[in-house]
Amino acid sequence: MSPATSAPVESGANPAAPSTGGLLELNNVEVIYDDVILVLRGLSLNVPEGTIVALLGSNGAGKSTTLKAVSGLLPSEHGEVTDGGIVFDGADVTKLDPAERVRRGMSLCMEGRHVFEHLTVAENLIAGGYTQERGHVETDLAMVYDFFPRLGELTNQISGYLSGGEQQMLAIGRALMARPRLLMLDEPSLGLAPLLVTEIFGFIKRLNEERGLTVLVIEQNARRALEVADHAYIMEQGRIVLEGPAADLRENPDVKEFYLGLGEGGGRKSFRDVKHYKRRKRWL
Ligand code: ATP
Repeated sequence: MSPATSAPVESGANPAAPSTGGLLELNNVEVIYDDVILVLRGLSLNVPEGTIVALLGSNGAGKSTTLKAVSGLLPSEHGEVTDGGIVFDGADVTKLDPAERVRRGMSLCMEGRHVFEHLTVAENLIAGGYTQERGHVETDLAMVYDFFPRLGELTNQISGYLSGGEQQMLAIGRALMARPRLLMLDEPSLGLAPLLVTEIFGFIKRLNEERGLTVLVIEQNARRALEVADHAYIMEQGRIVLEGPAADLRENPDVKEFYLGLGEGGGRKSFRDVKHYKRRKRWL
């Protein structure tokens, strides 16, 4: 799908989304847990229809919190969107409950896969179609098995016995049963061997290219995510610090050094540290 064409830009303290009219837009979203813990500090991003957008950042940056805010899952964790708004397909969904968001076409594949381990593959998939009319289930199951033939072979297997890669396919398949327009993935590479990561990201790319699915993926594995994404955002401490076309970010020296491990230092420091260091250097 066609990527945006602007070069990467370093974002300011309270950045606005780069453009409007995306399938999903976050506008200056602030999230607080337990009434006091400020985690998202005015986060804006835009996911255009038909693209893959990656949200990258190190541990604790607020990536999962962002997906929970979009999916409506914050209240169960005593979290709340306290400022800003979330727009999906032109409508404000900030206050909608999670099931209504799924009905509108937003589907989340959570970190750690979260399959129902005591249920079979087929039962897991059927559970994923709970918002759909009964008549859709057979068609949608066939669609998932067509896309993931391996799941078709395992249809009556208890999910807890599946390998990590198979469970990840099942988690994605279950999300597809809701007929999403936007698929959100929380760290699909987590705990998987490199070959399986390649396979899973291959599936994500095909879902986008062959079925036109819009994808928002969050990852610590920046290299893999930047290989498949059209556009990417890098966040730290609850804010976007850099964004741009994925192809440009792959070539950005700071991203190379601090997220792709290709720098001379070899370490993974904070992107903000680089900027502070460069500012200091300019002063000297
Ligand atoms: P990771 O890859 O480690 O999951 P992340 O970028 O997804 O990192 P979040 O899980 O969103 O980050 O966490 C961001 C910050 O919010 C962390 O400091 C975390 O401790 C805090 N946080 C997350 N969930 C809660 C919660 N339910 N209550 C209080 N604080 C939370």
